[in-house]
Order: sequence, then structure tokens, then C-alpha cells
Amino acid sequence: MIASIVVFIFGSIVGSFLNVCIHRMPLGESVVWPRSRCPKCQKRIPGYDNIPFISFILLKGKCRFCHEKISWRYPLVELITAVMFVVLFLRFGLTYNFFFYMVLLWALIISTFVDIKHRIIPDEVSIGGLIIGFILSAVRGLTTQPWHYSFRPALLSLAGILVGGGIIYLTGKLFDLVYFKMLKKPAIQGETESMGGGDVKLLAMIGAFLGPQRALLTFFLAPFLAIIVGLYNLISKKDHLIPYGPFLSLAAQASLFWADKVFAFLFFVR
Ligand SMILES: [Zn+2]
Repeated sequence: MIASIVVFIFGSIVGSFLNVCIHRMPLGESVVWPRSRCPKCQKRIPGYDNIPFISFILLKGKCRFCHEKISWRYPLVELITAVMFVVLFLRFGLTYNFFFYMVLLWALIISTFVDIKHRIIPDEVSIGGLIIGFILSAVRGLTTQPWHYSFRPALLSLAGILVGGGIIYLTGKLFDLVYFKMLKKPAIQGETESMGGGDVKLLAMIGAFLGPQRALLTFFLAPFLAIIVGLYNLISKKDHLIPYGPFLSLAAQASLFWADKVFAFLFFVR
């Protein structure tokens, strides 16, 4: 219980840092320097106004100096990160897996919120995450007693990158060929590519952490989640392109936790 609380607090502090990444990465700014400022009045935010959740509540969601509204995204990201940290901790304990999936979680949270706001996924997160995912997988191959190296985790990670990136790239190309070239449908809001390069890199990154099977599961799960929002848009007659990254990220988390159960159900394992 106490351990969970410590993990929760640690998670909310990390969430606070992820907020900085979400705000600055798409602007091409450094995420470590300078200290946080209010985007409106440019006043430096003092440490005591930077405490996860608590500051937001005490300040009633407004900047101390200019009273500009602080986005709901800040406490939300802190809460999601903190809760997911506890979930990972309860599932894996303080193991290598906890650390490993925590890194994936950071990448997924940043991509989700940057994609919602800017409709891009920063390469630092997708390509950077892909490389880190591969390295962290390769490290798994190390065993010390007796000293022995297994290439299996590294190869699975590599397969995950190729399968994850490959399937979404090929599906996108196939769709564009049929929809835009053969059926000669007009471009949707100036776009003639259904799958952005960002989504390809994102699923490749997910594959680097989760391996080929769970990358495939992510690919097949994401559309079901997207349909829900798509239907809402249809009913409320909102007509705009929805970013796909958040659905891939959500599906990746579902795959991370429930892949075994889904595969057992699908293939009657056991
Ligand atoms: Zn301000």
C-alpha cells in the first residue's frame, strides 16, 4: 500500500515532466532548459506552483500572475501517468519489466497528447523510442550466472519493429491505392495519404517494445477504438480528421496487459 502511494507520487512527478515534453517537443524546444514559464505572461512558474494536482487545485486552474487558464491537460496527464505507474507496479513489481514498460508508457503518453494537439508525433519519441526499445530488449538477453547471451529478445524486438511498421505502412498504401487512385475519390482536407508517416513510426516503436505478436494485436485493436470516436463525430456531425496515434497508443496498452488472454481466447490455447 505504502509502496503504491510512493509509486503514485513518483508517477505524478514524471507526468509533470511529460507535460513539459508535450508542450515543448513539437515546438523544437529543449525539454530540460529553461525552467517552466507561463505560456501567456512568460513569468517563471515557481516550484510551489508546480506540484502535481495540488497546485492546479490551489490555483483553481489559473496562472498565479496573469490568471490565464491552465489547460486541463496538465492534471490529466499527471493523473494518467501516476495511475498507470501504479498499474504497472501492481502487475510487475519492482522488476526489469516495470522499468521497461514504464519507458514505453512515457512514449505513448507524449505521442497521444502531442498528436491530439498538433496532429504530429515527434520523431524524438517514435524513432528515439524505437531505438531505446530495441536496446532495452537487447539488454534482456544478458544473463550473468552463468554468463550467456540470448539473441532472442533483440530479434523479437527487431521483428516487432518490422511487423508493426510494415503492416500499417502496407495497409495505408493499399487503402490509398484503392480509395484515391482506383475509385478516384477526392483528397480529404487536402490529404491523399490515409496513414501518416508518424503512425508508421509509432507502431514500429510499439513493436520494438512489445514484439511482433502484440504489435499485430495493437494494429487490429486500434480501429475498434477509433470507430467509437468516428461514430460520435458522425452523429454530432463533426467533420474533421481524427488523429490515429492516440488509438494506437491505447491499443498498445491493452495489448501490453491483455495480449495473453486475447491470444488464449482466439487460438484456444490451454
Ligand atoms: Zn501567466
